[in-house]
Amino acid sequence: MYIGIDLGGTNIALGLVDEKLDIVKKKKVAIIQGSSYEEILDVIAKECKEIREGIELAGIGIGIPGIVDSDSQKIIFCDNLGWKNVDIVGDLKKVLMEDIHIANDADCALYAEVLKGSAVGFKNVILFTLGTGVGSSVLLDGKIFLGGDKRGIELGHMTVEYEGESCSCGYKGCLESYASATALIRETKEPDAKTVFDQEDIKYKETIDRYYKYLAVGVRNGILAYRPDLVIIGGGISKQGDKLSVRLRDEVKKIEMYFGNETATIKIAALGNDAGIIGAAAMYRDNKKRR
Ligand SMILES: [Zn+2]
Repeated sequence: MYIGIDLGGTNIALGLVDEKLDIVKKKKVAIIQGSSYEEILDVIAKECKEIREGIELAGIGIGIPGIVDSDSQKIIFCDNLGWKNVDIVGDLKKVLMEDIHIANDADCALYAEVLKGSAVGFKNVILFTLGTGVGSSVLLDGKIFLGGDKRGIELGHMTVEYEGESCSCGYKGCLESYASATALIRETKEPDAKTVFDQEDIKYKETIDRYYKYLAVGVRNGILAYRPDLVIIGGGISKQGDKLSVRLRDEVKKIEMYFGNETATIKIAALGNDAGIIGAAAMYRDNKKRR
């Protein structure tokens, strides 16, 4: 049995995951805004102890909403949590006495989709997670592609508007500043992205039109760079379902010009919120095998 943890910008979701990658028990706790690194670690440790009580554990996988150096297993930067250069594996091991593996949360989500979700059977896939931020992951020839320095692909921080809105990374005009839930909240002052989409035809037609245009630019850039057979949309906003994937496909088609991959399909992630938990556990399991 494994524990898979999906550390988000606003929530910590964790689950007990078995060898077949089925979640047998799960829980979600809110992160109190402004919590320190130590406070969040305390919550993770407490929840892990609770959920595994009386169960023999093989290890723990954690999906991190930021840049992970996969070789050193350290967090380089977590913009939405304000963390820089932290050794979460070392710090948690001191309290939990368990083997731990970390990976970027979008990479965990795509890994889960490849193993048992929307991407089963596909070898070249890009995933965008649309939530507090915009995460991304790339699968090339059947393997998660992390780049030369093994720190992962950050399509959410591609510039889509020169000198545009400020981004959590410190720069301006990133896809994340336009396609995240945070962007919709900033623009409308509504409490969450769902409320904005719910009023798509009444109050926020222009906002949503613009949202799709920016997202389509991001997807186009991803298609041009990686030539995937499949583009998956995950994260909280993907709850908009087929309505979102169909509309996005239309917007991407308008701007593909001669460069688009005619066969690239756009699908909604199949595993929903469970992808992060399953993928983190699977990453632990499969990296353990290689060690
Ligand atoms: Zn950015």
